[in-house]
Amino acid sequence: MPHHTSMSIKIRESLQADCQSCFGLCCTALNIVASSDFAVNKPAGKPCPNLQEDYRCRIHNKLRDTGFKGCTVFDCLGAGQHVSQITFKGQDWRQSQEHADRMFQVFPIMEQLYEMIAYLAEALSYKVNNTLYKQLLTQLEQLQQITECDADALLALDIITIRMPVNTLLLKTSEQIRLKGKPSKKLNQRGADWMGKNLQGKDLRAIDLRGSYLIAANLQHADLREVDFIGADLRDANLCGADLSTSMFLTQMQINAAQGDHSTKLPSYLKRPAHWH
Ligand code: SF4
Repeated sequence: MPHHTSMSIKIRESLQADCQSCFGLCCTALNIVASSDFAVNKPAGKPCPNLQEDYRCRIHNKLRDTGFKGCTVFDCLGAGQHVSQITFKGQDWRQSQEHADRMFQVFPIMEQLYEMIAYLAEALSYKVNNTLYKQLLTQLEQLQQITECDADALLALDIITIRMPVNTLLLKTSEQIRLKGKPSKKLNQRGADWMGKNLQGKDLRAIDLRGSYLIAANLQHADLREVDFIGADLRDANLCGADLSTSMFLTQMQINAAQGDHSTKLPSYLKRPAHWH
């Protein structure tokens, strides 16, 4: 069976934002409503007041203390530099309003493509059966090709139609790996509302927590290996000492939004957030 685990993990690990090669797209393109995560209202296409001429953030080192916690959570996986340097060939959005508008519309599309690529690369690193492996690989290669399209083609994409088969493959991957051929209802906690729940030290291995609400849940020292976290809300969940070393489909944004410490075990492709102790 052709499992190129290290190649897939390398692809997954390579999906990192390089803000120095990006024209501050996340600080400009996105529509952000004022909340405890972002201190001001910022309409899509309008640069954040803290974005400098050189596309650096004026308050980068004090974001969390000044009401901009959300900025330390966001992660584009490299979609921003791709749009800046490849799709728009290094021409920044200050050149013309039309150019800017197109760039800002392409960015969220590229972001979604990158997110799917990250999930597929991770899925390919698991020991799934041969049929699924081939389907995942084909899907990954197709998406990689789509990211190379020009702006017009990217703007014409129907992302929902692209997402559907990807979701099906990720679901199959999750089931093959977590259940290892032994389906069990007990392990399906999809969409569970565990907000604020005390799960300290629990053995939650291989549970399906897709789309679950884990906001401020106490997961200290919980065993979360092989848990499927797609779409789970982990804001302020306490992950101190938890084992997420082989959790499935966990993203940097989920980790950045949670609390943890030096003893939290993370998969190799995720970085320990600077604000963790
Ligand atoms: S506060 Fe800084 S990081 Fe956040 S959107 Fe504004 S410029 Fe970007």
